[in-house]
Amino acid sequence: MANIAFIGLGNMGSGMCANLVKAGHDVRAFDLSEDAVARAVEAGASAAVSVSEAVSGADAIVTMLPAGKHVRAVYEGDVFGAATPGCLIMDCSTIDVESARHVGNSAVSKGFQFVDAPVSGGVAAATAGTLTFMVGGKESDFMAAEPFLNIMGKAVIHAGDAGAGQAAKICNNMLLAIHMIGTCEAFALAEKLGLDQQKFFDISSKASGQNWSMTSYCPVPGPMPSTPANHDYKPGFAAAMMLKDLKLAQSAAQSAGATTPMGAQAEAMYSMFDNLGGGGSDFSGIYKLLDGSWKGN
Ligand code: NAD
Repeated sequence: MANIAFIGLGNMGSGMCANLVKAGHDVRAFDLSEDAVARAVEAGASAAVSVSEAVSGADAIVTMLPAGKHVRAVYEGDVFGAATPGCLIMDCSTIDVESARHVGNSAVSKGFQFVDAPVSGGVAAATAGTLTFMVGGKESDFMAAEPFLNIMGKAVIHAGDAGAGQAAKICNNMLLAIHMIGTCEAFALAEKLGLDQQKFFDISSKASGQNWSMTSYCPVPGPMPSTPANHDYKPGFAAAMMLKDLKLAQSAAQSAGATTPMGAQAEAMYSMFDNLGGGGSDFSGIYKLLDGSWKGN
Protein backbone atom coordinates (compact mmCIF):
# COMPACT_ATOMS: atom_id res chain seq x y z
CA MET A 1 0.00 0.00 0.00
CA ALA A 2 1.23 3.50 -0.82
CA ASN A 3 1.77 6.63 1.27
CA ILE A 4 -0.39 9.24 -0.43
CA ALA A 5 -0.54 12.99 0.22
CA PHE A 6 -3.97 14.49 -0.56
CA ILE A 7 -4.21 18.28 -0.84
CA GLY A 8 -7.55 20.07 -1.38
CA LEU A 9 -10.32 18.37 0.59
CA GLY A 10 -13.32 20.36 -0.67
CA ASN A 11 -16.56 19.13 -2.23
CA MET A 12 -14.73 16.82 -4.61
CA GLY A 13 -11.46 16.09 -2.81
CA SER A 14 -13.09 14.87 0.41
CA GLY A 15 -14.85 11.94 -1.32
CA MET A 16 -11.83 11.09 -3.47
CA CYS A 17 -9.57 11.08 -0.41
CA ALA A 18 -12.00 8.81 1.47
CA ASN A 19 -11.98 6.33 -1.42
CA LEU A 20 -8.17 6.09 -1.36
CA VAL A 21 -8.37 5.41 2.39
CA LYS A 22 -11.07 2.74 1.85
CA ALA A 23 -8.79 1.02 -0.67
CA GLY A 24 -6.23 0.60 2.12
CA HIS A 25 -3.74 3.39 1.34
CA ASP A 26 -2.12 5.53 4.06
CA VAL A 27 -3.36 9.02 3.24
CA ARG A 28 -1.97 12.23 4.77
CA ALA A 29 -4.45 15.02 4.17
CA PHE A 30 -4.00 18.79 4.05
CA ASP A 31 -6.36 21.69 3.33
CA LEU A 32 -6.32 25.35 4.35
CA SER A 33 -9.66 24.63 6.07
CA GLU A 34 -9.26 22.84 9.40
CA ASP A 35 -12.84 21.54 9.14
CA ALA A 36 -12.02 19.89 5.83
CA VAL A 37 -8.97 18.20 7.38
CA ALA A 38 -11.10 17.08 10.36
CA ARG A 39 -13.60 15.45 7.97
CA ALA A 40 -10.75 13.63 6.19
CA VAL A 41 -9.48 12.36 9.55
CA GLU A 42 -12.99 11.06 10.35
CA ALA A 43 -12.82 9.18 7.05
CA GLY A 44 -9.56 7.52 8.13
CA ALA A 45 -6.80 9.81 6.78
CA SER A 46 -4.14 11.34 9.00
CA ALA A 47 -3.86 15.11 9.34
CA ALA A 48 -0.94 17.17 8.04
CA VAL A 49 -0.38 20.74 9.20
CA SER A 50 1.16 21.95 5.93
CA VAL A 51 1.62 20.98 2.30
CA SER A 52 5.30 20.24 3.04
CA GLU A 53 4.44 17.86 5.85
CA ALA A 54 1.81 16.10 3.75
CA VAL A 55 4.11 15.45 0.77
CA SER A 56 7.32 14.70 2.62
CA GLY A 57 8.18 11.01 2.03
CA ALA A 58 4.97 10.39 0.02
CA ASP A 59 4.98 7.85 -2.83
CA ALA A 60 2.14 9.70 -4.56
CA ILE A 61 0.50 13.14 -4.33
CA VAL A 62 -3.06 14.06 -5.34
CA THR A 63 -4.22 17.68 -5.57
CA MET A 64 -7.84 18.81 -6.02
CA LEU A 65 -7.69 22.62 -5.91
CA PRO A 66 -9.94 25.41 -7.20
CA ALA A 67 -7.90 26.97 -10.04
CA GLY A 68 -4.53 27.35 -11.82
CA LYS A 69 -3.18 29.95 -9.40
CA HIS A 70 -3.73 27.61 -6.41
CA VAL A 71 -2.09 24.72 -8.24
CA ARG A 72 0.95 26.80 -9.21
CA ALA A 73 1.27 28.15 -5.65
CA VAL A 74 1.04 24.73 -4.00
CA TYR A 75 3.56 23.08 -6.37
CA GLU A 76 6.04 25.92 -6.75
CA GLY A 77 5.72 27.03 -3.14
CA ASP A 78 5.95 23.70 -1.34
CA VAL A 79 5.56 20.41 -3.20
CA PHE A 80 8.65 20.70 -5.40
CA GLY A 81 10.81 21.57 -2.39
CA ALA A 82 9.52 18.95 0.06
CA ALA A 83 8.50 15.90 -2.02
CA THR A 84 10.92 13.11 -2.91
CA PRO A 85 11.93 13.25 -6.60
CA GLY A 86 10.57 10.20 -8.40
CA CYS A 87 7.25 10.32 -6.59
CA LEU A 88 4.05 10.37 -8.63
CA ILE A 89 2.03 13.60 -8.85
CA MET A 90 -1.61 13.63 -9.97
CA ASP A 91 -3.29 17.04 -10.26
CA CYS A 92 -7.03 16.41 -10.61
CA SER A 93 -8.08 20.10 -10.43
CA THR A 94 -9.70 21.73 -13.47
CA ILE A 95 -7.24 24.47 -14.50
CA ASP A 96 -6.05 26.34 -17.57
CA VAL A 97 -4.02 24.36 -20.08
CA GLU A 98 -1.05 26.74 -19.77
CA SER A 99 -0.72 26.29 -15.99
CA ALA A 100 -1.13 22.51 -16.39
CA ARG A 101 1.69 22.38 -18.97
CA HIS A 102 3.88 24.72 -16.92
CA VAL A 103 3.50 22.75 -13.67
CA GLY A 104 3.75 19.41 -15.53
CA ASN A 105 6.95 20.36 -17.34
CA SER A 106 8.53 21.75 -14.14
CA ALA A 107 7.63 18.55 -12.29
CA VAL A 108 9.14 16.30 -14.96
CA SER A 109 12.31 18.45 -15.16
CA LYS A 110 12.71 18.05 -11.38
CA GLY A 111 12.50 14.25 -11.68
CA PHE A 112 8.85 13.72 -10.64
CA GLN A 113 6.29 11.65 -12.48
CA PHE A 114 3.35 13.94 -13.34
CA VAL A 115 -0.12 13.71 -14.83
CA ASP A 116 -2.87 16.30 -15.14
CA ALA A 117 -6.03 14.31 -14.49
CA PRO A 118 -9.15 16.50 -14.37
CA VAL A 119 -12.46 14.78 -13.84
CA SER A 120 -15.93 14.63 -15.26
CA GLY A 121 -18.70 13.84 -12.77
CA GLY A 122 -19.75 15.88 -9.74
CA VAL A 123 -19.72 15.46 -5.99
CA ALA A 124 -21.88 12.30 -6.07
CA ALA A 125 -19.44 10.62 -8.48
CA ALA A 126 -16.46 11.74 -6.36
CA THR A 127 -18.07 10.14 -3.30
CA ALA A 128 -19.10 6.98 -5.13
CA GLY A 129 -15.72 6.57 -6.85
CA THR A 130 -17.29 6.77 -10.30
CA LEU A 131 -15.49 9.79 -11.81
CA THR A 132 -14.13 9.87 -15.36
CA PHE A 133 -10.47 10.94 -15.49
CA MET A 134 -8.98 12.61 -18.58
CA VAL A 135 -5.26 12.22 -18.25
CA GLY A 136 -2.34 14.13 -19.76
CA GLY A 137 1.28 13.08 -19.36
CA LYS A 138 3.93 10.59 -20.53
CA GLU A 139 2.74 7.01 -21.14
CA SER A 140 4.88 5.69 -18.26
CA ASP A 141 3.45 8.32 -15.87
CA PHE A 142 -0.07 7.48 -17.01
CA MET A 143 0.58 3.78 -16.29
CA ALA A 144 1.84 4.67 -12.81
CA ALA A 145 -1.22 6.85 -12.10
CA GLU A 146 -3.86 4.49 -13.50
CA PRO A 147 -4.20 2.16 -10.47
CA PHE A 148 -4.77 5.13 -8.14
CA LEU A 149 -7.21 6.88 -10.47
CA ASN A 150 -9.11 3.59 -10.94
CA ILE A 151 -9.89 3.62 -7.22
CA MET A 152 -11.53 7.05 -7.54
CA GLY A 153 -13.14 6.60 -10.94
CA LYS A 154 -15.00 4.32 -13.31
CA ALA A 155 -13.08 5.40 -16.44
CA VAL A 156 -9.48 6.54 -16.85
CA ILE A 157 -8.49 7.72 -20.33
CA HIS A 158 -5.04 8.77 -21.54
CA ALA A 159 -5.64 11.94 -23.61
CA GLY A 160 -2.01 12.69 -24.62
CA ASP A 161 0.96 14.68 -23.32
CA ALA A 162 1.02 17.12 -20.38
CA GLY A 163 -2.00 19.45 -20.52
CA ALA A 164 -4.04 17.12 -22.77
CA GLY A 165 -6.29 16.11 -19.87
CA GLN A 166 -7.21 19.75 -19.27
CA ALA A 167 -7.70 20.32 -23.00
CA ALA A 168 -10.12 17.35 -23.15
CA LYS A 169 -12.00 18.57 -20.09
CA ILE A 170 -12.63 22.11 -21.34
CA CYS A 171 -13.52 21.01 -24.88
CA ASN A 172 -16.00 18.50 -23.43
CA ASN A 173 -17.56 21.03 -21.09
CA MET A 174 -17.79 23.70 -23.79
CA LEU A 175 -19.74 21.19 -25.90
CA LEU A 176 -21.90 20.26 -22.89
CA ALA A 177 -22.81 23.92 -22.28
CA ILE A 178 -23.69 24.41 -25.94
CA HIS A 179 -26.00 21.39 -26.14
CA MET A 180 -27.53 22.18 -22.75
CA ILE A 181 -28.47 25.69 -23.91
CA GLY A 182 -29.75 24.32 -27.24
CA THR A 183 -31.84 21.69 -25.46
CA CYS A 184 -33.31 24.31 -23.09
CA GLU A 185 -34.12 26.58 -26.01
CA ALA A 186 -35.93 23.79 -27.83
CA PHE A 187 -38.01 22.88 -24.75
CA ALA A 188 -38.87 26.56 -24.16
CA LEU A 189 -39.97 27.00 -27.78
CA ALA A 190 -41.97 23.75 -27.69
CA GLU A 191 -43.87 25.05 -24.69
CA LYS A 192 -44.59 28.43 -26.30
CA LEU A 193 -45.89 26.55 -29.37
CA GLY A 194 -48.33 24.66 -27.15
CA LEU A 195 -46.49 21.35 -27.46
CA ASP A 196 -46.56 19.20 -24.31
CA GLN A 197 -43.00 18.93 -22.97
CA GLN A 198 -43.30 15.20 -22.24
CA LYS A 199 -44.46 14.68 -25.86
CA PHE A 200 -41.55 16.76 -27.16
CA PHE A 201 -39.18 14.65 -25.01
CA ASP A 202 -40.74 11.38 -26.26
CA ILE A 203 -40.28 12.50 -29.87
CA SER A 204 -36.94 14.32 -29.79
CA SER A 205 -35.25 11.73 -27.58
CA LYS A 206 -35.87 9.24 -30.39
CA ALA A 207 -35.22 11.68 -33.24
CA SER A 208 -32.15 13.55 -34.48
CA GLY A 209 -32.31 16.17 -31.70
CA GLN A 210 -31.38 13.52 -29.13
CA ASN A 211 -28.35 14.42 -27.02
CA TRP A 212 -26.95 13.87 -23.49
CA SER A 213 -28.51 17.05 -22.05
CA MET A 214 -31.91 15.76 -23.11
CA THR A 215 -31.76 12.05 -22.33
CA SER A 216 -29.37 11.92 -19.33
CA TYR A 217 -29.91 15.32 -17.70
CA CYS A 218 -33.24 16.58 -18.99
CA PRO A 219 -33.48 20.31 -18.05
CA VAL A 220 -37.28 20.47 -17.63
CA PRO A 221 -39.29 18.87 -14.80
CA GLY A 222 -41.16 15.70 -15.68
CA PRO A 223 -39.49 13.44 -18.22
CA MET A 224 -36.60 12.28 -15.97
CA PRO A 225 -37.56 12.40 -12.27
CA SER A 226 -33.96 12.18 -10.99
CA THR A 227 -32.58 15.30 -12.72
CA PRO A 228 -31.96 18.66 -10.93
CA ALA A 229 -34.92 20.14 -12.89
CA ASN A 230 -37.20 18.14 -10.57
CA HIS A 231 -35.44 19.40 -7.44
CA ASP A 232 -35.62 23.15 -7.98
CA TYR A 233 -32.33 23.02 -9.93
CA LYS A 234 -30.26 22.19 -6.85
CA PRO A 235 -26.80 21.19 -8.13
CA GLY A 236 -25.57 18.76 -9.47
CA PHE A 237 -23.05 20.77 -11.37
CA ALA A 238 -23.35 24.45 -10.47
CA ALA A 239 -23.75 27.08 -13.20
CA ALA A 240 -20.79 28.99 -11.66
CA MET A 241 -18.57 25.92 -12.22
CA MET A 242 -19.75 25.70 -15.81
CA LEU A 243 -18.94 29.39 -16.25
CA LYS A 244 -15.43 28.78 -14.89
CA ASP A 245 -14.87 26.00 -17.47
CA LEU A 246 -16.28 28.15 -20.30
CA LYS A 247 -13.90 30.97 -19.39
CA LEU A 248 -11.01 28.48 -19.47
CA ALA A 249 -12.19 27.26 -22.88
CA GLN A 250 -12.40 30.82 -24.27
CA SER A 251 -8.98 31.74 -22.97
CA ALA A 252 -7.48 28.53 -24.43
CA ALA A 253 -9.24 29.22 -27.76
CA GLN A 254 -7.75 32.69 -27.84
CA SER A 255 -4.21 31.43 -27.14
CA ALA A 256 -4.57 28.68 -29.75
CA GLY A 257 -6.21 30.94 -32.39
CA ALA A 258 -9.32 28.70 -32.52
CA THR A 259 -12.70 30.06 -33.61
CA THR A 260 -15.38 29.12 -31.06
CA PRO A 261 -18.40 31.40 -31.58
CA MET A 262 -20.85 28.99 -29.92
CA GLY A 263 -18.52 28.59 -26.95
CA ALA A 264 -18.28 32.40 -26.68
CA GLN A 265 -22.07 32.68 -26.78
CA ALA A 266 -22.42 29.96 -24.12
CA GLU A 267 -19.95 31.84 -21.91
CA ALA A 268 -21.93 35.08 -22.35
CA MET A 269 -25.19 33.33 -21.43
CA TYR A 270 -23.81 31.60 -18.33
CA SER A 271 -22.21 34.91 -17.36
CA MET A 272 -25.60 36.61 -17.60
CA PHE A 273 -27.22 33.80 -15.59
CA ASP A 274 -24.50 34.12 -12.94
CA ASN A 275 -24.96 37.92 -12.78
CA LEU A 276 -28.69 37.40 -12.27
CA GLY A 277 -28.02 35.18 -9.25
CA GLY A 278 -28.04 31.77 -10.97
CA GLY A 279 -24.43 30.76 -10.20
CA GLY A 280 -25.43 28.50 -7.32
CA SER A 281 -28.17 26.73 -9.31
CA ASP A 282 -27.53 23.67 -11.37
CA PHE A 283 -26.24 24.55 -14.86
CA SER A 284 -29.45 23.11 -16.37
CA GLY A 285 -31.31 25.90 -14.49
CA ILE A 286 -30.42 28.19 -17.40
CA TYR A 287 -33.71 26.81 -18.76
CA LYS A 288 -35.52 29.27 -16.51
CA LEU A 289 -33.64 32.17 -18.08
CA LEU A 290 -34.68 30.95 -21.52
CA ASP A 291 -38.34 30.37 -20.74
CA GLY A 292 -38.53 33.75 -18.98
CA SER A 293 -39.42 32.38 -15.53
CA TRP A 294 -36.09 33.16 -13.76
CA LYS A 295 -36.78 35.50 -10.84
CA GLY A 296 -33.29 35.44 -9.29
CA ASN A 297 -32.13 33.83 -6.06
P1 NAD B 1 -13.88 23.35 -3.36
O1 NAD B 1 -13.74 24.82 -3.36
O2 NAD B 1 -15.02 22.70 -2.64
O3 NAD B 1 -12.52 22.69 -2.77
C1 NAD B 1 -11.24 23.20 -2.99
C2 NAD B 1 -10.46 23.03 -1.71
O4 NAD B 1 -9.11 23.44 -1.92
C3 NAD B 1 -11.00 23.87 -0.54
O5 NAD B 1 -11.31 23.03 0.56
C4 NAD B 1 -9.86 24.85 -0.23
O6 NAD B 1 -9.75 25.17 1.14
C5 NAD B 1 -8.67 24.06 -0.73
N1 NAD B 1 -7.48 24.88 -0.99
C6 NAD B 1 -7.39 26.02 -1.70
N2 NAD B 1 -6.12 26.48 -1.72
C7 NAD B 1 -5.39 25.58 -0.99
C8 NAD B 1 -4.02 25.50 -0.63
N3 NAD B 1 -3.15 26.42 -1.01
N4 NAD B 1 -3.62 24.46 0.13
C9 NAD B 1 -4.51 23.53 0.54
N5 NAD B 1 -5.83 23.54 0.23
C10 NAD B 1 -6.25 24.58 -0.53
O7 NAD B 1 -13.86 22.91 -4.89
P2 NAD B 1 -14.37 21.52 -5.53
O8 NAD B 1 -15.81 21.62 -5.90
O9 NAD B 1 -13.91 20.39 -4.68
O10 NAD B 1 -13.55 21.53 -6.90
C11 NAD B 1 -12.17 21.23 -6.95
C12 NAD B 1 -11.74 21.17 -8.40
O11 NAD B 1 -12.51 20.17 -9.08
C13 NAD B 1 -11.97 22.49 -9.16
O12 NAD B 1 -10.87 22.71 -10.00
C14 NAD B 1 -13.26 22.23 -9.93
O13 NAD B 1 -13.34 22.99 -11.11
C15 NAD B 1 -13.13 20.74 -10.23
N6 NAD B 1 -14.41 20.05 -10.46
C16 NAD B 1 -15.45 20.26 -9.63
C17 NAD B 1 -16.65 19.59 -9.86
C18 NAD B 1 -17.85 19.81 -8.95
O14 NAD B 1 -18.96 19.40 -9.31
N7 NAD B 1 -17.67 20.41 -7.77
C19 NAD B 1 -16.79 18.71 -10.94
C20 NAD B 1 -15.68 18.48 -11.76
C21 NAD B 1 -14.49 19.16 -11.50
